[in-house]
Amino acid sequence: MLEKIKSLREKAIQELEASADSNSLEEWKRTYLGKKGFVTQLLRQIGSLPPEERPKAGEAANLLRDELTQLYEEKASAIKEAERLQAAKAQAIDVTLPGRRPQIGALHPVTQTLREIIEIFSRMGFGVYEGPEVEWDEYNFGLLNIPPEHPARDMWDTLYIAPPYGKDGNMLLRTHTSPDQIRVMELTKPPIRVVVPGRCYRHEATDASHEWMFYQVEGLAVDKGITMAHLKGVLTTFVREMFGKERKVRFRCDYFPFVEPGADMAMDCIVCGGKGCRVCKFTGWLEILGAGMVHPQVLRNVGIDPNIYTGFAFGMGVERIAMLKHKIDDIRYFYANDLRFLKQFRA
Ligand SMILES: [Zn+2]
Repeated sequence: MLEKIKSLREKAIQELEASADSNSLEEWKRTYLGKKGFVTQLLRQIGSLPPEERPKAGEAANLLRDELTQLYEEKASAIKEAERLQAAKAQAIDVTLPGRRPQIGALHPVTQTLREIIEIFSRMGFGVYEGPEVEWDEYNFGLLNIPPEHPARDMWDTLYIAPPYGKDGNMLLRTHTSPDQIRVMELTKPPIRVVVPGRCYRHEATDASHEWMFYQVEGLAVDKGITMAHLKGVLTTFVREMFGKERKVRFRCDYFPFVEPGADMAMDCIVCGGKGCRVCKFTGWLEILGAGMVHPQVLRNVGIDPNIYTGFAFGMGVERIAMLKHKIDDIRYFYANDLRFLKQFRA
């Protein structure tokens, strides 16, 4: 009997050491210490032994039960602690890992360029005015010396607003920011120095240099004694601030119904320096903007006496300025919402 107890003890301790988690430990407990477990059965057999063997066998069996119970409890608390640590480790934050960089937005390249343009004119004392994108025909054309049936209307492919808004097609999406020159002159009296930025719309077939929606910035200065020299001085300063002090500029005659005389302004090519390349179409010059002296009739239309006041006005496409500045060869990139393009302009 004592031999049997000894071998049971060895087997029990060996299996206890092998149990690595609480499931196998509980299984072990059932096998040895449970109601039908080996140790319990052993204790029951004591009574059927010959009387002289009972005391020693009983004592050994009781010792075995106590020993295994104690070993079980030690093992149980060790496993419990190990499992608790493992669970804590699984939930823990490893503070040594690099953080996840948050997605930060950036200003659109057209917005960046627009702000740069406005800043340059601000330094020359120009204020900023913004007008409506949905405009009356009268402001977009009529008051700018472009009456109905005037052939100059063919220069702007206009998107008209359908009834019931407006009447007889007298409401439209502005084709240029020029109507805001009228609004500014109606709201304030000379001296006026203002730039008007904003979106414009035209019924265009899009290509590398045309979009149906684009940004313009126009400028207007009206005061006593304003001359073409002021126009040239302000615009030359703008080009050199925007594209570099060494830029040469060129003014040539051009026609816009709301100015007289009208001019187009170009600068020497920033890529080839005037020698001729693909960007300047081998002319050596890049057209930047249109300008001119405000037409006397436009001043009369808003109640300003052209015998006392004169003014100059200019207008440029913001995308064109951004394209020249960043050497972008297709205007459609700006509004294609392609992050691969836009991310390059993260300031
Ligand atoms: Zn060139």
